[in-house]
Amino acid sequence: MTHKLLLLAGDGIGPEAMAEVKKLIAVMNEMGHAFETEDALVGGCAYDAHGAAIAEVDVAKAMAADAVLFGAVGGPKWDGVPYDVRPEAGLLRLRKDMDLFANLRPAICYPALASSSSLKQEVIEGLDILILRELTGGVYFGEPKTITDLGNGQKRAVDTQVYDTYEIERISGVAFELARTRKNHVTSMEKRNVMKSGVLWNEVVTATHKAKYSDVKLDHMLADAGGMQLVRWPKQFDVIVCDNLFGDMLSDVAAMLTGSLGMLPSASLGAPDEKTGKRKALYEPVHGSAPDIAGKGIANPIAMIASFAMCLRYSFDMVAEADRLEAAIASVLADGLRTKDILSDGMREVGTAEMGDAIIAKF
Ligand code: ATP
Ligand code: MG
Repeated sequence: MTHKLLLLAGDGIGPEAMAEVKKLIAVMNEMGHAFETEDALVGGCAYDAHGAAIAEVDVAKAMAADAVLFGAVGGPKWDGVPYDVRPEAGLLRLRKDMDLFANLRPAICYPALASSSSLKQEVIEGLDILILRELTGGVYFGEPKTITDLGNGQKRAVDTQVYDTYEIERISGVAFELARTRKNHVTSMEKRNVMKSGVLWNEVVTATHKAKYSDVKLDHMLADAGGMQLVRWPKQFDVIVCDNLFGDMLSDVAAMLTGSLGMLPSASLGAPDEKTGKRKALYEPVHGSAPDIAGKGIANPIAMIASFAMCLRYSFDMVAEADRLEAAIASVLADGLRTKDILSDGMREVGTAEMGDAIIAKF
């Protein structure tokens, strides 16, 4: 069976990082796998080519693909373009059309990098947790969302947090299913002490657990206390599930535990297809287009390659291959190879392509 991938490399270092994944895909096809790839434009380069952050035909291709690999978008060149067609609009459009409600952000600390971290080694060494953020609801989209002039020199800003039962059910379902493939432990975070949406969140997660996933260990934590625990002793967690806003914050906190932005992958998943049961999915590095280093051949490709490992794991059930790819990354780091962003004393500095080649050679 062929696996159809749409490659949206985007702007800045996006294409440089994607080039390493393309090399890997070619090698895997030589090994007998059947990936079929197609490239398309997104972000600033799409705007330059056809005046939109992503062309309609390419949105359709993303909807039809088995998975989308996304690089990064944006850069100073497009700072002045109209809001509707700004580079980021391409990604937002895909999230909306593909209904990517589940955002997976693993925070992994590779053993070889733990000792050069500014954090205490025992806190982060061997860290492997997953933050699951609800991505399509909550305060980012709830109505009303307004700023009103009150007329007395005062203004009032209103944001609204809205969650329906089905939204909490589907994200907690993903959390429990992911936990079953990991350490079988979910921690749900909200603030039920001050927020009605937190009360409902807690209630629905608990009910979903009871109905279908009682084999998984479930804990509840208030999100503020959870943030503190995440910094104090992150290894107590396995899967953390939370709403859009708390997930945004907690995943950035978790990112800091692991070191560089250039190391972190992510996945965004949609609902399973009614016929095939397969989820729509988009995989992308957490970092942006890094215009300051674009075109220099020094970008760290690990986040992009690790995003492809997530694609193998979650879209194609190729668990052995995903494990092997992640082990190849760890092994290259253990050998002392470092791109500039993760360089430390005594290690060997390499460029984007050399890092990619070394990982592929170990795969
Ligand atoms: P965005 O708004 O798209 O998230 P940003 O400016 O917030 O972009 P990045 O583009 O990720 O963030 O860049 C932040 C810093 O991290 C930059 O100095 C960049 O060079 C560095 N950086 C980001 N990704 C990488 C990478 N893969 N390899 C090396 N350095 C990186
Ligand atoms: Mg940023």
